[in-house]
Amino acid sequence: MKDLYSVLGVSKDADPASIKKAFKTLARTYHPDVNKDAGATDRFKEITAAYEVLGDEQKRSLYDEFGEASLRAGFDADQARAYRNMGGGYPPPGAGGGGGAGQGYPFPGGPGGGFGFEDLFSGLFTRGGAGGGAGMGGGPRAGGRGARVGPDVEGHVEIPFLDAVRGAELPLQVRRPGPCATCHGEGGTGRRTCAACGGAGRRPLRQFGLNALVQCEECGGAGVVYADECETCGGTGRTRELTTLNVRIPAGVQSGQTLRLRGQGGEGSAGAPPGDFLLTIKVQEHPLLRRNGKDLEMDVPVRLSEAIGGATVEVPTPTGRVRVKVPPGSGNGRRLRVTGRGVQDKNAPGDLYLVLRPVLPTVSDEETIALANELDARGPGPEVRANLEL
Ligand SMILES: [Zn+2]
Ligand SMILES: [Zn+2]
Repeated sequence: MKDLYSVLGVSKDADPASIKKAFKTLARTYHPDVNKDAGATDRFKEITAAYEVLGDEQKRSLYDEFGEASLRAGFDADQARAYRNMGGGYPPPGAGGGGGAGQGYPFPGGPGGGFGFEDLFSGLFTRGGAGGGAGMGGGPRAGGRGARVGPDVEGHVEIPFLDAVRGAELPLQVRRPGPCATCHGEGGTGRRTCAACGGAGRRPLRQFGLNALVQCEECGGAGVVYADECETCGGTGRTRELTTLNVRIPAGVQSGQTLRLRGQGGEGSAGAPPGDFLLTIKVQEHPLLRRNGKDLEMDVPVRLSEAIGGATVEVPTPTGRVRVKVPPGSGNGRRLRVTGRGVQDKNAPGDLYLVLRPVLPTVSDEETIALANELDARGPGPEVRANLEL
């Protein structure tokens, strides 16, 4: 299946107005009533199907987040998200729907890529707000009358391991749906019912040989047209404004956790409060640190002389370097606890465990072997493996 954006020839961050415009232009060109070329009907169907998704704020957001999977019958976004947060791909293996096995969900931004702010939130989607049935689909043009709480907006972000350990404040650029500022959500002036579809927004297309209803290309499915259509939003009454959110990431956040940013979602209509922004966190791996709840663990290479004779070594921690005493006679794997240097939970910070890894000399010339024999003379003999039984 082709990418829906490329079907309409628009970019992924195109605003509703340009999507609608692209659809109208293409639909007029390939409409079977006017275009008798072979393939025009198929192309028209393809264009219409693409616009059914991209012309609908909610469907589009789901498509952005889950791709083609979101178009399948019975697709459940919450389930897909829950599954993804468990580390799986979507759809889950054997979850019906067919195909798509192992289709992973790379978080935008990529590992180690820092913050590609714009990319991070290419997968925004909106959900009907507290107004319930009102939803967003038919909403915009009815806006301005009844007050409706803004929709919740969901997004996800991948954060560096240490930001999750220490907590951080991150500026994130997001696209939040809201009423168009130019037309105040009205879509334009001189509003009247679309004559082409009689206000239904869909028209039967007999050429298909079945009762196919397609989106009306005159009104883009809205059922109304304007004498003077708002150019900013293309008559949809909604825009996706790019705004910066300063997100406070609390120390100790875990992968899969969702932060609710109150009042940072889509704008409400007629003075109603905005929805919330639900930000799902994915914590990147760290090459050296491992996390176990609030505690951290890190391997620390030590020289043989330090392991045998004891030493004070300096090591980095999430909150600065510290000097740590290595007790004499420390074997491989010995754990040293550094209190309070784990996850910086403000009530009770976790600890950092250093796992000592004595590094053996890698040269195996006669001299090194002789030295090793000398050391062995002071340690256990061949009985060292006496208890090694399975
Ligand atoms: Zn507008
Ligand atoms: Zn129409």
